[in-house]
Amino acid sequence: MATIPGIGLVKGLWVTLKALFTKPVTVMWPDEKEQLAPRARGVIALDVDNCTSCMLCGRECPDWCIYIEAHKVEIQPDKPGGRVRTRNELDRFDIDYALCMYCGICVEVCPFDALYWSPDYEYSEFKISNMLHDKERLTEWLATVPDPPALEK
Ligand code: SF4
Ligand code: SF4
Repeated sequence: MATIPGIGLVKGLWVTLKALFTKPVTVMWPDEKEQLAPRARGVIALDVDNCTSCMLCGRECPDWCIYIEAHKVEIQPDKPGGRVRTRNELDRFDIDYALCMYCGICVEVCPFDALYWSPDYEYSEFKISNMLHDKERLTEWLATVPDPPALEK
């Protein structure tokens, strides 16, 4: 089939012309902020008070990028003759965001509501080792976690 000479060029220019008058999907960050969905997966926040160091999130993480260390502490009984109980004390809880693929499995599997998604994404680093967020940094993200949606009436 005969082709018209230069038709490819015209088609290409037409695409360019259309794009010139279309609203861009990108924004001029950091001057302009993107409007994210409220439950967007930006960063994971940790509520240390809820974490029992059960290690479930670390075991289920497909990237093995959650590092947890804990030790046991003894809790003495309230009354004489009672049983001494033990409780896990969290020493280390790190997430390496250089490895994380934001699948959300850790947040889903946590049985104690200790992990939450925050839509904040402004934590890029020049040094890749700084992408490892420790317990304190993960706790700071809690302030950016949106409130849960209201219950249905
Ligand atoms: S979001 Fe997925 S990859 Fe990232 S820490 Fe959680 S389980 Fe691992
Ligand atoms: S699954 Fe939840 S409670 Fe268990 S170690 Fe992970 S964050 Fe802590």
